[in-house]
Amino acid sequence: MSDPLIQFIRQWYGTDDYIPLHAPTFGRADRDYVLDAIDSTFVSSVGEYVSRFEKQLAACTGAGRAVAMVNGTAALQVALRLVGSQAGSEVITQPLTFIATANAIAHTGAKPVFLDVDRRTLGLSPEALESFLNEHAERRDDGAYNKTTNRRIAAVVPMHTFGHPCRIEEICRIAEAWGIAVVEDAAESLGSTSGGKYCGTFGLLGIYSFNGNKTITCGAGGAIVTNDDALADRAKHLTTTAKVPHRWEYVHDEIGYNFRMPNLNAAMACAQLEKLESYIADKRLLAEAYAEFFSKIDGVSFVTEPAGCRSNYWLNTVIFPDSARRDAFLKRTNDAGIMTRPAWKLMNELAMYRDCQCGPLEQAEWLEQRIVNIPSSPRADSAT
Ligand SMILES: *Cc1c(COP(=O)(O)O)cnc(C)c1O
Repeated sequence: MSDPLIQFIRQWYGTDDYIPLHAPTFGRADRDYVLDAIDSTFVSSVGEYVSRFEKQLAACTGAGRAVAMVNGTAALQVALRLVGSQAGSEVITQPLTFIATANAIAHTGAKPVFLDVDRRTLGLSPEALESFLNEHAERRDDGAYNKTTNRRIAAVVPMHTFGHPCRIEEICRIAEAWGIAVVEDAAESLGSTSGGKYCGTFGLLGIYSFNGNKTITCGAGGAIVTNDDALADRAKHLTTTAKVPHRWEYVHDEIGYNFRMPNLNAAMACAQLEKLESYIADKRLLAEAYAEFFSKIDGVSFVTEPAGCRSNYWLNTVIFPDSARRDAFLKRTNDAGIMTRPAWKLMNELAMYRDCQCGPLEQAEWLEQRIVNIPSSPRADSAT
């Protein structure tokens, strides 16, 4: 199976060179906007491209507001702080995620709690969330508390794994019944929808990442989206050093962050966002071709978008019957200059998070042994 797949991927991208998992694609506009930012001399914390990008991002996701930041991890940290995540509180998330999710929680001083994922969507399982809360949580005047640890549960952070929407509507319903804020880690799922609504816009706050390996990139960047104007204003204030607006005076009214996206990056972000739909269209063609390819392979299944959803297919994913076959595939493809990689090591198995409370993690552990990501970049001509 590996060799025909290698051949297929080489043909798709039309190259004998090394093929990475997800490379960025640039066109005319990226260069023009970045050069324009340089010519303007506004490359740093002031400039037109930042607010232009924020408006463009809000418009294309249907979010009321967007606030651009230096990266997705910082955006998640700030979003969590805005819902009261702090020392002495807890935040529920999934163990099958990139390290940034857990680190952002820890950076606010809170402790992550890891609950299982859903086998079909690879995202947080509503059943796992509901049974954990029924068993361990209680409602108090100022929110939900973990009865065992006596800590306030400040938020639940579902992650739309590899761009596939998780069962977000159900998660929001459960969290709402418990009075817990939903902060969506939509870093990987820009442009993905569930029931026609964009990932990132279901929770009280959502975050995106524009790192170099994401669906669109501006080198490094991130954003918070929300429909709550007061929260968006708070996010902007906190991430721009909490400076009180004034033409010449420097007064800051709290300990803020320097998390603003530089104008130089925002210029590239504007150009990239204009091409989001053409990138996704090309990535979906590849996903379709992969699905067709793997439909003929016994025992290996290709992960498709859940029913009622549109996935951006950020990273295409296959599930092997066991880790031995997976490992053989990883070796063969990487030896052939085609980058493939297994799932992240589960967060609860890392030294820093080993002492965190976990629910039963059967599905996450099963998937971790079997998942492989395969090349998923949009082709170069989708950028023009
Ligand atoms: C990429 C990513 C982030 C944010 O990453 P940055 O590199 O800080 O922009 C957060 N969560 C997940 C799941 C991610 O994949």
